Amino acid sequence: MRAWVVHRAGPIDTYPLALVGRPDPEPGPGQVRLRVEVCGVCRTDLHLAEGDLPPRHPDVVPGHEIVGRVDARGPGATRFDIGARVGIAWLRHTCGVCAYCRRGDENLCVAPRFTGWDDDGGYAEFAVVEESFAYRLPNDFPDEQAAPLLCSGIIGYRALRRSGLRPGGRLGGYGFGASAHHAAQIALHGDAAVHVMTRSAEARRLALDLGCASAGDAFDAPPEPLDAAILFAPVGELVPVAMRALDRGGTLSVAGIHLTDVPQLVYADELFEEKSITSTTANTRRDGEELLELATRVPLHVHTVPYAFDAAAEALRDLAHDRITGAAVLKVRTG
Ligand SMILES: [Zn+2]
Ligand SMILES: [Zn+2]
Repeated sequence: MRAWVVHRAGPIDTYPLALVGRPDPEPGPGQVRLRVEVCGVCRTDLHLAEGDLPPRHPDVVPGHEIVGRVDARGPGATRFDIGARVGIAWLRHTCGVCAYCRRGDENLCVAPRFTGWDDDGGYAEFAVVEESFAYRLPNDFPDEQAAPLLCSGIIGYRALRRSGLRPGGRLGGYGFGASAHHAAQIALHGDAAVHVMTRSAEARRLALDLGCASAGDAFDAPPEPLDAAILFAPVGELVPVAMRALDRGGTLSVAGIHLTDVPQLVYADELFEEKSITSTTANTRRDGEELLELATRVPLHVHTVPYAFDAAAEALRDLAHDRITGAAVLKVRTG
């Protein structure tokens, strides 16, 4: 099969990815193999390519928003029929026995495996996964729209929940990429007033089109105090900015897997009055099932920017340079 690999992690303009030939992966016990149709492009792929996330093994295939059709089943795999349309997401294995797994917080598992980091992902013609970590996908979303739900959708949903926003509350979103545009729509569905702060003028336009109450520049103050904020941009300098924008008792939820260093906080303005800050670490399978169900109910409008499979490196460069509004997706299957 043809696959993109992280060959030499480094700045995206130094071409860290290479397109290579690989043997097709064989599904092991309890696993299914997908013929990949579409794979979403996530900022985590960029962190991996640039070495912000140290690669877990050489020449790993990135990509963890995978939509495909089951074309082979390993021994004992019975959950999906051959031909079934399923999704593979970031979390692909948990130990099931650590204290966090046992109490239902499998996103905090001490021995997890992640797609496109520990094991090969979906920038390739085939991908395998344990069937218990695969997702059935809602019929109303074509492949291209379903893919971004599998990470940016799920993480946006979890980050929103961790922000503690109540129905009708005031939410601030810092950064407006794929994950933010899902979270904003879910918040709007709950009658929230959503304020977006982002340096991209095109993203500000998309935010207003989706019904957000205001859209300002990245470091601007929102027009009213916030009950909750979510930091989507991987920019630690925005933490104090967002904390100052919170009303008493407000929470800042940091959505990313990687963040530049956070400057010193000023207690009186940025933490006192019971403000909180929290992070989002992966997701549980239940988060995934809930988001996919919610996606139909809202319904989520998934704004995608398609790229040919051969243009994966270009997609990551465009993401790095803020040239993508919405969610980039690779069209892996051509025939
Ligand atoms: Zn565990
Ligand atoms: Zn992701």
